[in-house]
Amino acid sequence: MDGSSSPDVSRDVEVRRAYSADASGLMLIPDGVVRATSPAHVAALLAESSATRTPVTPAGGQTSTTGASISDRGILLSLRAMQRIIDIDPVARVARVEPGVLVGDLKRACAEHNLLFAPDPTSEEECTIGGAIACNASGARSLRYGPTRAHVRALSVALADGSIVELRRTSLEKNTVGYLLAHDPVDWFVGSEGTLGVVVAAELALLPLPEQVIGLAIPFSSEANALRFVVAARNSMHVHARCLEFFDVLALEIARVTEDSDSWARGAQALVYVEEVPPAEQEPALDDWLSLAESFGALVDDVRVFAGETALRDARRMRHAVPAQMNERGARRRDFGGRKVSTDWAVPYPLLEHAIGLARALANEAGIEQAVIYGHAGNGHPHQNFIASDAEHLRVVERVVEATLREVIALGGTVAAEHGIGKIKRKWLSMQLSPLQVRAMRALKRELDPSDILAPGNVL
Ligand SMILES: Cc1cc2nc3c(=O)[nH]c(=O)nc-3n(C[C@H](O)[C@H](O)[C@H](O)COP(=O)(O)OP(=O)(O)OC[C@H]3O[C@@H](n4cnc5c(N)ncnc54)[C@H](O)[C@@H]3O)c2cc1C
Repeated sequence: MDGSSSPDVSRDVEVRRAYSADASGLMLIPDGVVRATSPAHVAALLAESSATRTPVTPAGGQTSTTGASISDRGILLSLRAMQRIIDIDPVARVARVEPGVLVGDLKRACAEHNLLFAPDPTSEEECTIGGAIACNASGARSLRYGPTRAHVRALSVALADGSIVELRRTSLEKNTVGYLLAHDPVDWFVGSEGTLGVVVAAELALLPLPEQVIGLAIPFSSEANALRFVVAARNSMHVHARCLEFFDVLALEIARVTEDSDSWARGAQALVYVEEVPPAEQEPALDDWLSLAESFGALVDDVRVFAGETALRDARRMRHAVPAQMNERGARRRDFGGRKVSTDWAVPYPLLEHAIGLARALANEAGIEQAVIYGHAGNGHPHQNFIASDAEHLRVVERVVEATLREVIALGGTVAAEHGIGKIKRKWLSMQLSPLQVRAMRALKRELDPSDILAPGNVL
């Protein structure tokens, strides 16, 4: 498709600019934009694009932090207009959706049936189901429920050649036919970042909405104690955490502003936010939480309790404020060649304190300001957010991040636990995967997208 001949492709510069940025801080202006309205529309575009070898990059809410949903090559294919919740079946506990539905909208629709769509990326009010599937997004509550992959039952995928395949997980408990990678093609597409096919519909598994959830924001006078508390809480038989989120002293400062509570926990050096979901017919283990926290020196007089839907939403807003505030700070440096640099590494959770210590030491050695560190400590998965003020500072920050990632890999960790690789983190893929693993990925990519049109520059 040269584009000028296709009535679907918008070449208007304002439209192209409107789709040129995501949360990575990069800006890549596509040659054209297509706003898909149906699976057939997507399939026709892909068939034509394969024939003419025109690159196509799918995009949902464009909240990617890795430049995965933007491109300056070929067509940017927006799926946002395909935003129908097709149906919610409360008996089978499944939802069938188009890819452009916002995760937050689906969660609210499910809650009306007393059901929970469990994946909860912090960006849930801005990101789509298609994007969450393509990134295998997770969130604070993935500690209990697992990432998006665990909740995808079936997918309709438009392949690069314009065909549409229907893929459904088996419910077999035993299977010895062939290689594992061939057992469940749904898994090829979850986490494939738009490089293997375009998700045009999904069937998602739902859970019963928990009857009782209590949130606790627990301040600690030392970071080390907060991190040790997280490990103890994960290992405890007496408390039932569905999330264990860490805020360092800088992230806590942002939380104070969001809470409009300047004096809250002034003696604290860190905070852990937990959500307790007791087993059916049991009361929340509040006393157990408090005594566990106290044994790690928590400032128990400053603990805040979030009970009820509205209060839990407030807690979520407090948590979301940290990345949102850091994105704003990063955006202010864009004109100077700087931006926010966010890590997404994870280590086995008992090693988190050690890993954060190494990360801080590397930043100190390089003489740069410490990152704001916050996030999914229960999964050994913090985010370090640096603000690089200009291009030179950015180079130093990237060197520090790379050195940190080498330590993380040595500890058995990963360079990207939930945001994917996209374009920004591609250079680190080979740090974690062997040449054999990368060749196996390339073979799958060649098989599914022989003209190499899908999401060029992402992952491989
Ligand atoms: C403030 C903030 C907080 C965040 N918090 C989290 C978090 O807690 N957990 C987390 O996992 N992530 C988080 N993210 C990252 C991001 O929001 C998630 O990865 C999200 O799932 C992306 O969804 P999206 O609709 O915005 O996808 P996009 O950014 O539009 O696209 C992401 C990738 O998916 C592909 N894609 C999109 N739609 C389709 C489709 N229909 N078919 C095939 N490929 C498709 C794109 O090509 C791209 O590779 C955060 C981002 C921000 C800005």
